[in-house]
Amino acid sequence: MQHAHSFSNDLNGTLPRPQTGAHANRLVEELAAIVGPEHVAAEPDCCALHSRTTEPDSRACQAVVFPASAEEVSAVMRLAQRHRVAVWPFSRGNNWGYGTKNALQRDAIILVLQRMDRIVEFDPQLAYVVVEPGVTQQQLYDFLAEQGGHLMADCTDSTPFGSVLGNALERGYGYTPYGDHFAHLCGLEVVLPDGRLLRTGGAQERCPTRYTHKWGSGPALEGLFSQGNLGVAVKAGIWLHPRPERVVLFTLDVEGEAQLHAAIDALRGLALAGTVQSHVHMANALQTLSLVCRYPPDLRERGTAIPPGRLQDMKRSYGLSDWGAVGGIYGTAGEVRARQRAIARALRGGGDLRFFDEREVARAGRLVKMWQRSSGRGMLGAAAKAIKRQVTRKDFALVALLPEMYGVLQGQPTWSVLRSAYFKSALAPPADNLDPARDGCGLMWLAPAIPMTGDHARKALDLVAPLFEAHDFNLSACLTMMNPRTLFLLLGIFYDPLHGGERERASQLYRALHAELAAHGYQHYRGGIPAWTCAAGARDAAAGVLAGMKERLDPAGILAPGRYHI
Ligand SMILES: Cc1cc2nc3c(=O)[nH]c(=O)nc-3n(C[C@H](O)[C@H](O)[C@H](O)COP(=O)(O)OP(=O)(O)OC[C@H]3O[C@@H](n4cnc5c(N)ncnc54)[C@H](O)[C@@H]3O)c2cc1C
Repeated sequence: MQHAHSFSNDLNGTLPRPQTGAHANRLVEELAAIVGPEHVAAEPDCCALHSRTTEPDSRACQAVVFPASAEEVSAVMRLAQRHRVAVWPFSRGNNWGYGTKNALQRDAIILVLQRMDRIVEFDPQLAYVVVEPGVTQQQLYDFLAEQGGHLMADCTDSTPFGSVLGNALERGYGYTPYGDHFAHLCGLEVVLPDGRLLRTGGAQERCPTRYTHKWGSGPALEGLFSQGNLGVAVKAGIWLHPRPERVVLFTLDVEGEAQLHAAIDALRGLALAGTVQSHVHMANALQTLSLVCRYPPDLRERGTAIPPGRLQDMKRSYGLSDWGAVGGIYGTAGEVRARQRAIARALRGGGDLRFFDEREVARAGRLVKMWQRSSGRGMLGAAAKAIKRQVTRKDFALVALLPEMYGVLQGQPTWSVLRSAYFKSALAPPADNLDPARDGCGLMWLAPAIPMTGDHARKALDLVAPLFEAHDFNLSACLTMMNPRTLFLLLGIFYDPLHGGERERASQLYRALHAELAAHGYQHYRGGIPAWTCAAGARDAAAGVLAGMKERLDPAGILAPGRYHI
């Protein structure tokens, strides 16, 4: 499905031109000679399928190429230089809400590195793996389980098929103490736009600290290859966390602004003291509802927001409060007990705090099965309901998430959270192998970073909430503790792409939020096509330096031109 272009793109004139006719055919033939004809998709239908996005705009590509090695990536880059055609690299291409697998220009070559899926090295002593870009979260989880499960990798709550390396390059995040993915990436191998291979950290191939000492010696180059367009990453070291003796999941439900404010300040104190090491996620009720139910069909068809009274009813029927947090506590049994006590002390009176250890999570899982077997009826259903009431007032659909989230807190990927991308879709999410772009879901993310204080959180929420309302959307927000000093305010715009008016309104809301946040000096933790097309990049000294590097490394502007405004 081809969407209308509601975002402007004033960059097109300055970028490599698409190949047409005989040129295009020759290009595809030469690509096929590098990777094998079965690994190039150039038929218009196929390209259209790969170009599907969750954002309002999509840009058809000229070909999708699946190389199998760094040498093939290098050859593709040299070929693109000769043909002067733009190449956009993706590891797995599940970048939903940020541009999915699209280039900024039409008719670019999309490079998907999913065939490069080897776990090249595993060092159990120093706790790292070296992976290629195609290695998925599920693959790494299974591999570590096979190795005895003594080590765990952090994962996102996006797809189990997401790329470990692709997400780290985009500075994505998860839940465990290693949830800042780029911070735990060490030793990057990159193909430059001219096809040369570069290793970060100034390290030779045989340097023994290549995957253990992130900074190497001299200027640290790694950052240049994250969120940019200076190279195609083909290999990286990923640090692993020793599996702790004990993991306890905690939930905190807060009601109203004052409690949210107090909870954020208390969590900051706990994180600064090292008591809370996980990346606590605190979602508002709408975002949690998107995980467990469908948008009311009558309102979806009309393309309007859920009115406050009806939202309140939905919240009540699922037993939700205004904001619900989930986090993990890690350590030995003694450490976890001490941390639980400190957390309970700090959050006293600041909401409904609950702890779930392995046994309680398993019990919750059994209870949900009992409920499902009874279909909520008869003696069994009544018994399940009565037992649940002793544990939580939340609906079974939310109780069912506990085991999933307990797994995520230990690096086990899940499909459960991705279901939220289907919230406003007419199509119900499939049981697994979810793909919101393939299935025509509408979703965009904006994620400003804010200092971690209750005051700052309130200020940012006060800026964005009226804009959601003015555009007839419900505020969907999640505050994630990225480090003890910074929160990411993840804003989700769910829309129905089949509802023409709503698609345009979603774009307008995105632009309004972007402009308002920029006017107050906020930076986004991560960008995407909607962001790069709705505002110009900075014109400061840093932007000048980056432009100079791009000019030097990629004078023809072949590699992902315009990405992050570079
Ligand atoms: C419901 C939902 C929940 C989500 N939850 C999370 C979450 O918890 N945390 C999170 O971080 N994200 C989350 N996401 C966003 C997104 O789905 C993930 O970040 C996902 O990991 C990105 O897809 P990917 O891993 O396949 O990476 P890719 O799409 O392959 O890569 C991401 C970006 O990095 C660049 N890139 C990738 N590989 C390379 C390379 N080898 N060289 C150069 N550049 C490269 C690409 O240009 C691309 O734009 C969520 C999305 C949805 C819809």
